[in-house]
Order: sequence, then structure tokens, then C-alpha cells
Amino acid sequence: MARLSNKCIVLTGAGSGIGQGMAEGFVREGAQVLGVDLSEAGLAETAARVSGPGRFETLVGNVTDKGLPDAIRTKLSALGWQWNVLCNNAGIGGGGMAGDTDDETLNRYLDVNVTGLFRLSRAAVNDWKGKAGVILNTASIYSFIGATGSAAYSTSKAAVAGLTRQMATDYGVEGIRVVAVAPGLIETALTAERIRTEAWRRHIYIDQSPLRRVGKPEDIANGAIFLISDEASFITGETLRIDGGWTLG
Ligand code: NAD
Repeated sequence: MARLSNKCIVLTGAGSGIGQGMAEGFVREGAQVLGVDLSEAGLAETAARVSGPGRFETLVGNVTDKGLPDAIRTKLSALGWQWNVLCNNAGIGGGGMAGDTDDETLNRYLDVNVTGLFRLSRAAVNDWKGKAGVILNTASIYSFIGATGSAAYSTSKAAVAGLTRQMATDYGVEGIRVVAVAPGLIETALTAERIRTEAWRRHIYIDQSPLRRVGKPEDIANGAIFLISDEASFITGETLRIDGGWTLG
């Protein structure tokens, strides 16, 4: 029995890595998925990888674009779909220590990882008035801990966990759940080069991690499927660490 056959999902960052893994899992579990990404080629690659019983449609768009919520509404209406899940997964990573981070860099991280996510979340709760829905954000273990000099990124991901708690508090009474996944080190385009070249990173994230491996996009997708499904109907405000136990200490 497909676990997401009653879900119509808008998924950002669907053209690569974790978002691609989510798209595959969501469609496999029967959902209608509108994948949004900057990269048309990435979306085409995801479209070629997914397989039913759900459906996968695409929209090229930038989460920093103020017009994106309306573009999503127009596309959904053309498809005859009514969204009831938003997965805010698009994000940029990396960066340096606070002393080396200028305003422009800080604002770039905040624009993509926070403002873009906030704007789409606002559109979702306003569209869902009187109807149940789920927002799932992709946070990070950097929402909770400091690790490797990614000051702007950590700032943005702490905000994501904070907004997850806040919106869960405000909108639970309307039947809207707001949850997040906090991936540890997952091998994607964002991290592959660093995993390959930085021995210290392998040492910290793999040798010192209880499960002794980096994660795969499907590890995050499996957590996301559970959190957005009705199996998690009593869970809200939670940011679930999926990190192989790395942050256990
Ligand atoms: P990725 O680079 O493989 O994929 C990110 C996707 O988002 C790309 O397809 C990219 O085109 C898209 N994107 C980037 N900026 C966008 C924008 N402004 N508008 C629309 N689309 C945009 O990265 P990933 O590792 O799959 O990361 C996905 C999410 O997971 C991010 O939020 C990231 O911070 C988070 N995360 C990743 C890891 C990891 O180890 N890979 C760990 C913790 C959190």
C-alpha cells in the first residue's frame, strides 16, 4: 500500500542529491510531486529516475524569486492539483568562519536557505486555510551543533529549525504539521568533492560515527516519507536528526 497516495507535494531542490532522492521516494509511495529547481537539466534527470505509482512534474524556478509562489500556483492549477505538502529542501552549503564572511555572503545564504523557505511556507499556510497540510524543511545537523567553519550556513539552518518549531506552534490548531529533517553528511553534489579530498572530514564523519558511513539521499528520503505521511500525524515541530549517530558525541 502506497504511503503517500493522498499527498500532493511541492518539493524544492528536486534536481539533485537529497531532493532527487526525496522525489524518487515520494513518487514510489504514490504522491503527486511538483519538483522545483534552478536546474532544468537536474529536473530532467530526476524525471528520468522516478517511477510510479505517483507522478512527477517539474517547474524551473528560483526560491529567491518573489514570484515563485504564484508560478507554483499557476502550474498546480494547470495540472489540476491541490498541494497539501511543501518540502523546502533547496539549499546552498559551505562557507567559512564568521570573521571571513562578508555581508554579501551572509545574505546569499539567508536568501536561499531562509527567506526562500519562509516565503513558500507563508504561501502554503495561506493556501491551506481550513485544510490539513504538512511542511517539511531540510535543516541540518548544523542547526544544532558547530562543526567546520560554516558560519552563514549554520546561522541559516538554525533559523530553519527555529521556524519549524514556531510554525508548528502557530498552525497546529489549523491541522498543519511542520517538521524537519536534519541530515548529517550525505554524499551529494554539495559534498562529494569535500568527502573525496578532505581526510579530516572522512575521519570525523565516518571513522568517529557510530554507523561508520556517510549517508545517502535515500536515507533522508526515508525519514521524510515517514514525517510527511499520516503515520506521523502526532508529530509536529520536530527536527529529526538523520546522521548515522554522528552527533551523539
Ligand atoms: P545539492 O547541491 O545536491 O542539491 C541542491 C539542489 O537545490 C540543486 O538541484 C540546486 O540546483 C537546487 N537549488 C539551489 N539553490 C536553489 C535556489 N535558489 N532555487 C531553487 N533551487 C535551488 O545539495 P544536497 O546535498 O542535496 O542539499 C539539499 C539540502 O540538504 C540543502 O538544504 C542542504 O543544506 C541540506 N543538507 C545537505 C547535507 C549534505 O551532507 N549533503 C547535510 C545537511 C543538510
